[in-house]
Amino acid sequence: MKVNHVPTYTMSEDEVSKIVKSCDTHKVPIVPYGGATSIEGHTLSPNGGVCIDMSMMNSIKALHIEDMDVVVEPGIGWMELNEYLEPYGLFFPLDPGPGATIGGMCATRCSGSLAVRYGTMRDNVISLKVVLANGDIVKTASRARKSAAGYDLTRLVIGSEGTLGVITEVTLRLQKIPQHSVVAMCNFPSIKDAADVAIATMMSGIQVSRVELMDEVQVKAINIANGKDLPEIPTLMFEFIGTEAYAREQTQIVQKIAAEHNGSDFVFAEDPEAKKDLWKIRKEALWACFAMEPNFEAMISDVCVPLSHLAELISRSKQELDASPLVCTVIAHAGDGNFHTVILFDPNIEEHRQEAERLNKFMVLTALSMEGTCTGEHGVGTGKVKYLEKELGVEALRTMKRIKAALDPNSIMNPGKLIPPHICF
Ligand SMILES: Cc1cc2nc3c(=O)[nH]c(=O)nc-3n(C[C@H](O)[C@H](O)[C@H](O)COP(=O)(O)OP(=O)(O)OC[C@H]3O[C@@H](n4cnc5c(N)ncnc54)[C@H](O)[C@@H]3O)c2cc1C
Repeated sequence: MKVNHVPTYTMSEDEVSKIVKSCDTHKVPIVPYGGATSIEGHTLSPNGGVCIDMSMMNSIKALHIEDMDVVVEPGIGWMELNEYLEPYGLFFPLDPGPGATIGGMCATRCSGSLAVRYGTMRDNVISLKVVLANGDIVKTASRARKSAAGYDLTRLVIGSEGTLGVITEVTLRLQKIPQHSVVAMCNFPSIKDAADVAIATMMSGIQVSRVELMDEVQVKAINIANGKDLPEIPTLMFEFIGTEAYAREQTQIVQKIAAEHNGSDFVFAEDPEAKKDLWKIRKEALWACFAMEPNFEAMISDVCVPLSHLAELISRSKQELDASPLVCTVIAHAGDGNFHTVILFDPNIEEHRQEAERLNKFMVLTALSMEGTCTGEHGVGTGKVKYLEKELGVEALRTMKRIKAALDPNSIMNPGKLIPPHICF
């Protein structure tokens, strides 16, 4: 059934439950909506329906300082949450797109630059409250830090992309703001050298909190967008945390590793403003790309492989990208084996779109051949649906479909996303 698209702001869990129940009765599709920073068409409404905007359910319900957890409504942004937590010496360590909300972050099982140290959303959510398709409100777990009580419903909903229910409350694990941190940058003659250093750093046992890799094209975009003068060659950015002495010791060890792999110009910053500026630039790297081609669109790849395959994956992809007529940048959460390419294309030129698709597919298939995944952190949405069967196999997808059918028999929750349409019983 196709119905008109109706945006709805909601103020309470009870209201969400009533809306969802009514939509279920009338078989009207629902698309939950957070910060709308997702990248794979997650919030499209191909069948129309009701879009429930959660941004006004954004309060902090309880902060438990001694338990290092916080209970929030789903519409709060991770940046606003961290502003609130800072005076308490605490923070929440997931940093996806600026503007993303905690509910959307749960629904996409997101991560970010700090996942190498603190894990993904899967590891940092203690429990959820969820409105199911029939209007029932379910609490998935207690507030205990760990539990062996039954099926792990929390983890079932995390990454479900709004297809199983609407998240209305989230209890999050928090971390202490580190006593000291050092941000270091280093340049390399080739992207393979940079990837090798990221791997060698992880193998050395050093607990880095960030290892981010950028190729020369991405650095150029950053220079243009931010009026910077960074050397336009493959670059690694690190963050080390702990006591002052420990963070500096780790910095020196990695400086040595970098030198053994042709690294040069190793510089580091300890001034809080300089560090903030560097991470802001990195976080906004996607937008910086549009400084090179302001009227183009971007297709973003998000493959992830076991760490030992990262250097080979990046080298093979880079050869393909460099040979393409399109402008492509490489950016990676290298400590996790997670690698993005921003492929800029003119949406009015069909050959451009096809070439962007071809490059994206090349990287996905190469990652899958290395026991990797088509999406390390952005999720499936509509964009990655076509690759799921190759990655997971038909049995896994049929199992997902059975879960979906049990919890949402009328298929009203974000239909057309995550599960490929051809999967049937
Ligand atoms: C510049 C930029 C940088 C980025 N960097 C990263 C990164 O480093 N790591 C990363 O993982 N991602 C990154 N992203 C992607 C994006 O920020 C994440 O996917 C984020 O988790 C989406 O959150 P959101 O609130 O914007 O969700 P939305 O885009 O609003 O929604 C995403 C999905 O969640 C569902 N949803 C939203 N709220 C709820 C709810 N309350 N209940 C149930 N379902 C809900 C929606 O239906 C949809 O399917 C980046 C994006 C941009 C633009």
